[in-house]
Amino acid sequence: MFIVPKNVQNRLAKLPAELRITRYESHQNCDEIFVEIPKPTVQPCPHCGSEHTVIKDQGRMRTVRHLSYGGQGLLITFHHRRYVCRDCRRSFQEPVYWILDRTRITVSLYLDICRELQTTSSIKDIALRNAVTPAIVNHVLEEIPFGPPSFLPSTLCIDEFSGSAGYWDKVNYRWVVTDYHCNLADGDNGCVIDVLPSPNKDFLLEYFYAFNPMERKNVRFFCCDMRSGFLTLAKTVFPGVTICIDPFHVVKLLSDNVTSIRRALQREYRISGDDTTYKLLRGSARLLTTSEYNQGVYWSGKRIEENKERLDSVLALSDELSDAYQAYQQMIHIVHMSSYQQQRLFLGDWLGTFSGSPYESVKHCANTVRHNKSYILNAFHYGKSNAVCEGLNNKIKILKKCGYGAHKFENFRKRILLACDPYKQVVENYTVFAEKATTEKEAMS
Ligand SMILES: [Zn+2]
Repeated sequence: MFIVPKNVQNRLAKLPAELRITRYESHQNCDEIFVEIPKPTVQPCPHCGSEHTVIKDQGRMRTVRHLSYGGQGLLITFHHRRYVCRDCRRSFQEPVYWILDRTRITVSLYLDICRELQTTSSIKDIALRNAVTPAIVNHVLEEIPFGPPSFLPSTLCIDEFSGSAGYWDKVNYRWVVTDYHCNLADGDNGCVIDVLPSPNKDFLLEYFYAFNPMERKNVRFFCCDMRSGFLTLAKTVFPGVTICIDPFHVVKLLSDNVTSIRRALQREYRISGDDTTYKLLRGSARLLTTSEYNQGVYWSGKRIEENKERLDSVLALSDELSDAYQAYQQMIHIVHMSSYQQQRLFLGDWLGTFSGSPYESVKHCANTVRHNKSYILNAFHYGKSNAVCEGLNNKIKILKKCGYGAHKFENFRKRILLACDPYKQVVENYTVFAEKATTEKEAMS
C-alpha cells in the first residue's frame, strides 16, 4: 500500500508544512480535517513585546473554511491556544498566519475567491464553486482596497455607461441611485483607471479638484464624446489641455440620423398601406448604415449589384434620406483618410455642403460637427480615440447581466476594476499542464 508522505499530505491539502494532520472526518456536505499547530518555543506578547508568556487556559477549538474540492466544502479544526503575558498581565490569542484576519476562512481560500472575482462570474456562482456563502464572497470583495488612482495619465479618456447602482450620500444622508456611471481610462496604455458613480458635472469637478494642480498638469489630452458637460469640465479642470472628440461619435451621430429618417419614412408607408415599400425600407436598415467600403467587402459579386439597385431605389424615395446618407458616407471617407491635411480640407468642404442642407435633421448634425470642429480635428491630428472606454462597456454589460444588476456602487466599481485592469496578477490554474507538456516534449526530443 502506498502511504502518502506527511509533507505531501500538507501540500495536497494546501496547508502549511508544519501542521500535523491528526484526524479526518467526513460529513454529509463537507469534510473536516483536524490539525495540530506545533507549540512555539517563545510566543512574544503583541502588546508589549515581552517574551515572558505562558499558556493561559484550555483555549478553544476553532473551525475555519478551507479550499473546496469536487463541490465538497472542507473545514479545518484546530486547537487555538490562549496566552497570558507575565509583564503586562494581558492575554492574547496565538496568532495564526494562514487564517485571514477577522474572518473564518484560510488565506488560500481568500486568494482563490480573489482570483475568481477577477472573472465576470456572479457572486452567487463564486460562492457555490468555493462552497461558501455569498456573504463571505461579498466580505472578501469589501476587504480588497481600491483607492482613487495615485496619478493622472497624459491621455485621459472619459465616457459614461448605463447602470443603476447606488451610493450613500454623506452630505444629504440618503441613498442616491444614478442611471449613468462614468469610467476613466488611460488612452496610451489602454487600461481603466477608475469608475465613478455619476457623470454629473459637479461630482466630476469635486473628484478632479482632489488631485493637486501639478498632477492635473500631467494630462495633455482629454478624450470624450460630444457631451457639453465633459467639454466644460476639461476647460475648467485642465487648463491648456488638448480636447479630442473621437470621430466615432461623429459617425454614430450621422448614422443615427439616417436610421431615424428611415424609420419615420417606414412608418408613413406602413400607415398608407404600401407594404412593398415598407418592407423594402425595413430590409435596407443594415445596408443604409454600412460604409460603402464595407458594402463591397461584405457583399461581393452578384450581391453587390443587387444591393446597389436596392440602395438606389431606397434613396430615390426621399431626398432627405439621400442627403443624410451622403453626409454619413462622406464623413466615413474623411475619417479613413491617411493625411491630416487632407482630412482638414475635406471636413471644411463637408461642412460647406451639409450646413446649407434644406433638411433640418442634416443641418442640425452639420451644426453639431461645426461646433466641435477643432476638437474633432485634434483627434485626427494626434491620433487619439476613446476606444478604451468604449471597449470597456461590453465587459461592464456582461458583469451587470451576470449579477442581475448591481446594488452597491462601490462593489460594482471594484468588480469592474478587477475584471478590466490588464495589470492584475493573473494566476493561471492550468499552466501546470502546459509546463508538464513542454518538459515531456523536451525529454522526448
Ligand atoms: Zn505583554
